[in-house]
Amino acid sequence: MRKVVLGVLLLNYMTTWGQENYPKGAFGSPMGIPLILAGTFGELRSNHFHAGIDIKTQQRQGLPIYTIGDGSVTRIKISHWGYGKAIYVAHPNGYTSVYAHLQKFSPNLEEYIKKIQYQKRSYEVEVFPDYGELKVAKGEVIAYSGNTGGSSGPHLHFEIRSSISEKPTNPLLYGYEVRDATNPTLLKLYGFPLSKDAQINQSQNKIQINFSKQRDGTFLADKVRAAGTIGFGFVGHDRQDMAANKNGVYSVQQLVNGKIYSDYSFEKFSFSETRYINTLIDYHHFGKYKQRIQKSFKSPGNRLSIYNTLHNDGKIVVREGLSYNVELLIKDFEGNLVKLRIPVEGKKEAIKKEREEKKTDYYVIAKKPNNYDLGAAKVYFPSNTFYEDFYLDLEKGEDTVKIHNNTVPAHRNFTITFDTSKYSENERKQLFIARLDKKLKPNYTSTYKRGDVFTARTRNLGTYTLAKDTVAPKIRTKNFKAKQWLNNYRYLSLYITDDLSGIDSYSATLNGEWILMEYEPKTKTITYNFDDVILDKKQCELKVVVTDNVGNSSTLSTTFYRK
Ligand SMILES: [Zn+2]
Repeated sequence: MRKVVLGVLLLNYMTTWGQENYPKGAFGSPMGIPLILAGTFGELRSNHFHAGIDIKTQQRQGLPIYTIGDGSVTRIKISHWGYGKAIYVAHPNGYTSVYAHLQKFSPNLEEYIKKIQYQKRSYEVEVFPDYGELKVAKGEVIAYSGNTGGSSGPHLHFEIRSSISEKPTNPLLYGYEVRDATNPTLLKLYGFPLSKDAQINQSQNKIQINFSKQRDGTFLADKVRAAGTIGFGFVGHDRQDMAANKNGVYSVQQLVNGKIYSDYSFEKFSFSETRYINTLIDYHHFGKYKQRIQKSFKSPGNRLSIYNTLHNDGKIVVREGLSYNVELLIKDFEGNLVKLRIPVEGKKEAIKKEREEKKTDYYVIAKKPNNYDLGAAKVYFPSNTFYEDFYLDLEKGEDTVKIHNNTVPAHRNFTITFDTSKYSENERKQLFIARLDKKLKPNYTSTYKRGDVFTARTRNLGTYTLAKDTVAPKIRTKNFKAKQWLNNYRYLSLYITDDLSGIDSYSATLNGEWILMEYEPKTKTITYNFDDVILDKKQCELKVVVTDNVGNSSTLSTTFYRK
């Protein structure tokens, strides 16, 4: 079980720079293949920083996953979304390793968790075994790699957390060898006029700045003319060797005339701060163009702990007649460096592009709670829903209300309440609160119904309406037909789909007994493993019931034979 060569995958001692003494070389590799990454720690994702590394699994599933050290399984979670099938191992040195998107667990863990799934009659389960109950040894196979949960291709999501604080730490700090001799890639540079009186190149708005590569490999930006308080941000990524994946960079420093103004790196963070990523990127730009600008200055509401150094929050106060040498140093974990020099000249000029700001009747003070009556619906923003004060764009309607758009992030949930008293009780059953996407397709938003008052809690600004789902889910067999002999079959699988509100629950019985069906929303498939229940009958009756989010329900009953 422990024959895998771990030594080659570890670098014994790397440069020590951490504030914390990470046990370098103490852990083995979670996989028996070279570590090639499809994602780095701290990488910018939707509403969060990536809390681990994504290890490529050669486009395959079912590769053995080894526990990186002696320890004990302290958590197993299976969910349709997120981490899919995940296992957590606590180690005596104070760290917990996490392995996610797994296909299945090792036979003994599989037996352990299936027992609980059959007890609870649920595919989705979460258990916290006591320390010592499920001991594992370094290098032991604990699972097989997969693509379960919110994974868009086979890979292992691997984390190392502090067991006590649960803070995820960068797994590369523990000495894993990931080949990377490739410099980060710098795609775009932006300048931000920040103070009321600020301007860059005659603009009061964020402006793109061109740059070019120099003979020595560094980059030089076109000379910037500016006044007032300004900041910079870039679009870029890092690539490791042997993979085309665009991963996140490790650290970003901004120097002004040789002095460090801002310096952040992805060594560790906490889950409670991860959503503040929405203040690190230019969220308005992201909402519009789906591209993330990483700002080198700290915006209002930013509570991230990733900064090692900050001077004036990374903002540069530009004075008339003075010159500033701004440098951006962008590094990957191996220290491969991209250096960009931005010459800034203090010069106040006539404004050609005035500040773009759409004024509305609803100016939101972020610190205060805010209530609005929009006719069909009411919306309530608790205090500090938003990071910054802004003009909120609201449109009242009979059935549909516009609550701004996706260019402003909400840090916490706000509440939308619809009055549905004009609908009959029967109609109300099939109604739900929906957010309209770009193509005006209604997307189900978790709707709480109390009489004729419907409530949704969400962090997504946008257009909301009441939608009606009158069609029950569809169920059809995938790998077999009714009345078929299935002697050599290892699995039974069926397709389950719903047109509008989405699938809320499903269950299946075989000859009247509950059976475990594993649901994979990506392929719309539910699967039963014939190993689970020994069938003593030749004629098998399968019954599958699927219910959508408003309670429409479908049943499929079918017969097959097996001996
Ligand atoms: Zn991941």
